[in-house]
Amino acid sequence: MPNNDWLNRSLKAVWHPCTQMKLHDTGALPLIPVARGAGAWLYDFDGRRYLDAISSWWVNLFGHANPRVNAALKEQLDQLEHVILAGFTHAPVVELSERLSALTDGVLGHCFYASDGSAAVDIALKMSHHYWRNRGKPDKRRFLCLANSYHGETLGALGVSDVGMYKEAYEPLLRQAVIVPSPDARQAETGETAVDVARRAAAGLEAVLAAHHESVAALIVEPLVQGAGGMVMYDPEYLRQARALCDRYQVHLIADEIMVGFGRTGTLFAHEQAGIRPDLLCLSKGITAGYLPLSVTLSTDEIYSAFYDDQLTRGFLHSHSYTGNVLACRAALTTLDIFAEDAVLVRNQRFAERFTELLAPLAHHPRARHFRQRGMIWAADIDSSDPNFRARFFREALQRELLLRPLGTTLYFMPPYILNDEEAILLAERAVAALNAALA
Ligand code: PMP
Repeated sequence: MPNNDWLNRSLKAVWHPCTQMKLHDTGALPLIPVARGAGAWLYDFDGRRYLDAISSWWVNLFGHANPRVNAALKEQLDQLEHVILAGFTHAPVVELSERLSALTDGVLGHCFYASDGSAAVDIALKMSHHYWRNRGKPDKRRFLCLANSYHGETLGALGVSDVGMYKEAYEPLLRQAVIVPSPDARQAETGETAVDVARRAAAGLEAVLAAHHESVAALIVEPLVQGAGGMVMYDPEYLRQARALCDRYQVHLIADEIMVGFGRTGTLFAHEQAGIRPDLLCLSKGITAGYLPLSVTLSTDEIYSAFYDDQLTRGFLHSHSYTGNVLACRAALTTLDIFAEDAVLVRNQRFAERFTELLAPLAHHPRARHFRQRGMIWAADIDSSDPNFRARFFREALQRELLLRPLGTTLYFMPPYILNDEEAILLAERAVAALNAALA
């Protein structure tokens, strides 16, 4: 069946995420039916191809239809697909929990599972407050988040997010977090470094903590890169200071590494670059190499021990039907195997240097501001007042076989970790061509 048939049927039956559906009906925003994927490429039903330069919403690490993940899942499928995780356990979830904990040097000793990133964030918020309640401090029930932060779409996650467009209609339903300054390095004034901006933001955090710490359960951050807020990058100094302040004022530090985890910022976890560990760590997206929905909230033994009791209701009674899904855990174990066996982080570092060079025409483009890079994320703010810039660029990119979806006027790249040099050149050259066409 050709593209057109699939997209017409999709528009009649599927409510697509994060989309004003009318834009598809009017044709302002194309809808691409995907027939298959291989490596970095997606293929439609009419034989056209698209380079997935945003890793399918930041989840795909090792390409589509990756032979190793495929083989592991096929093998797992014949043994066990899923089992209730309350009162039962299984090998993949045990091994995954042990390995994730070991990757935090054992500082985060227990893993609690869900399926989506937003659920992992809700779990961290609930755990944090419940911890304080169990420790005799029930008044610690407020949360702090950074200006411009994004932590997901459920009501709990939206409450600790500061991205107006996604939140506005639901404000009356939310428990709004206290918003503290973002260490956004773009705020550096003349003569200032990113470290100076980080220190200024930390001073803002300290003022709020000094005044309100008795009612604050946790600070939640996206370590090093604020994703949906526009790929905002900041110096690790902020995380070091935030860690020290959270310790001083007895507030949990929640690291939401749903986007930045699994090598995105150059290290396996972004918080490593600050030499700190959070109290709660949320992971998802790349954890299954982009195959299956899985999220996990890791906690310190201190947090875990506050729930360990004779009384049922002091336990963490949260649950989701697919908690710890066997297939998803098996995909995650394969992700960890690939990191361990293939020196992924070393290869990424070489790739990042090369791709940054290739993007020089974007960095020096007369309409690009604040070109920035950390690990396997590149971004630049495009100087455009055209409200349709995003849709125009998206279309121009598709015409050049690229899947790139700017966040507002921020153009960014978050490719899977497997591009070869030819693909990197194609991506960099055609992205600039698409930009010029969109701005023309
Ligand atoms: N936190 C961050 C930092 C994210 O980038 C996202 C998703 N973009 C989420 C949370 C929410 O994850 P999910 O979409 O899987 O619910």
